[in-house]
Amino acid sequence: MEEERAKRIELQEEQRALSLQLVASQEQELNRRAELNIVSDEMENLRKKHAREMADLEFDLQKKDRLLREASEDLRACRSDLERERETVSSLKSALNAQSNERLTLTAEYRSFQTQFSALQNQYDELLRTHADLKLDLEVERREKAQMKEEAMENEATRRKLHNMVQELKGNIRVFCRVRPVLPSDIPQPNCGPRINSPELSSNEELALIREELKADINFPDRRDHREITIWSSSESATGQERKENYQFTFDKVFEPECTQAEVFEEISMLAQSCVDGYNVCIFAYGQTGSGKSFTMEGGATDATKGMIPRAVDQVFRVAEDLRSKGWEYQMEGQFLEIYNETINDLLGKHEFDKKKHEIKHDPKTSSTRVTDLTVIPLSSPTQVRVLLSSAQSRRSVAATLMNERSSRSHSVFTLRITGSNAGTGESCEGCLNLVDLAGSERINVSFGGGSNDKDRLKETQSINRSLSALGDVIAALGEKSERGDKHIPYRNSKLTYLLQNSLSGNSKTLMVLNLSPLASHLNESLTSLRFATKVNNTTLGTAKKQSR
Ligand code: ADP
Ligand code: MG
Repeated sequence: MEEERAKRIELQEEQRALSLQLVASQEQELNRRAELNIVSDEMENLRKKHAREMADLEFDLQKKDRLLREASEDLRACRSDLERERETVSSLKSALNAQSNERLTLTAEYRSFQTQFSALQNQYDELLRTHADLKLDLEVERREKAQMKEEAMENEATRRKLHNMVQELKGNIRVFCRVRPVLPSDIPQPNCGPRINSPELSSNEELALIREELKADINFPDRRDHREITIWSSSESATGQERKENYQFTFDKVFEPECTQAEVFEEISMLAQSCVDGYNVCIFAYGQTGSGKSFTMEGGATDATKGMIPRAVDQVFRVAEDLRSKGWEYQMEGQFLEIYNETINDLLGKHEFDKKKHEIKHDPKTSSTRVTDLTVIPLSSPTQVRVLLSSAQSRRSVAATLMNERSSRSHSVFTLRITGSNAGTGESCEGCLNLVDLAGSERINVSFGGGSNDKDRLKETQSINRSLSALGDVIAALGEKSERGDKHIPYRNSKLTYLLQNSLSGNSKTLMVLNLSPLASHLNESLTSLRFATKVNNTTLGTAKKQSR
């Protein structure tokens, strides 16, 4: 029992400890419960706080989400902006590249320009220097030129004087003799006239022989100066014997049948110069019909065959043009008339036949001659003169067919009047070029039966003979005047000499071209012509005086 008691005390002890323990545990539990409460409160608080925070966070999140969306939106915009910018930048870059390339080339160009510029500057400086030099030279040249011009004018005056002296030395009256070739039309047709019938001859040889047979015995012995012509003429003496006579003539120039128009003109061309210098010039073509007067004066249509009139006109225009540089200005005018039966007909008139009465008027003050109511045409070019001459020619041929070869029964006178003035020297001059195609000089062998045609023919012939011998007389008298002093000159004996009075008198130059036929059948006419021309040729005109106003 003790044991039990001890045991019980132990148990009681134990129980007490345990109850103490229980109380402590209860207390502990209470504490724990209080603590738990506090903790759960805390937890509640915490949960609330957490919820609040969560809501806040949720809100924040949403906000952030929005912001993010906005930001990503912005980002996209920015990206596309960036893309665009990039593109712009790259295009700018390439532009920049191009520009920098351009700049490079521009710089290079600039450099080369700069070198060019400096070269040009050098050139310019050089030019400036040369300019100054040239200016100096020019001044010197100008002075020299003025001096030269003065000298040229003096020279021109000297040239005129010398030219005239040469012409005077050659004689103010000159006579040329021209023999035309045998023409195909001179050769008789078969069955009429002489033929040579020889079987050994070709037709060409036969023709040459016929030519020789037809030809008169005309020779040109002066091979050097071409001034002589000799003719053998045979006639029957009283006793019936053949008598041969030799005639010799000397002229200023003799042209053989082969001579060209150009060769003839070469000898005449100096007269055109005289005419422009203010001298009066007359050129006559004398000879029987068919001897080549019109061929010599007017000539053919080609350049090679054109005659003295167109050549003289060309020459006058050429000389006038040359003298322009020496201060001379010229005006030309032309007239063309014919003298038939001592009446003047205007060949440049509008109508086929000239019904006007023309009078010759001389002005003693100016020594010039005008024909009343005559067409005078101002001339500006040689071509114009040619047109005018051919129209006159056609008028003449119309008249000719109607009036029995009138052109060979009348004298035609073409006059080119040249007026010049020199503003530099104050000089002026007037010259006249008269180109005369005379009527046929042949004596007419018509048996006059008393018909009206024959009477007309007789009147024609008489008037031609009279005027031609008047021309010979006037020229002869002019020659005698120069030798013997004052003498009456019978200008008034014919219309032709009266018309040409001012162009024949002392201050003028006269040329007569004696045209001869080469034919034996014309020999007597040829001798008569040669004698007439010799009478003219032995005459010399007095010293020429320049006609100036
Ligand atoms: P005229 O006027 O004296 O009556 P032409 O001049 O009409 O004579 O000449 C008569 C013919 O002779 C014309 O057919 C002309 O062409 C010709 N004739 C004249 N002279 C020559 C010449 N030198 N050369 C060639 N033919 C000429
Ligand atoms: Mg004629």
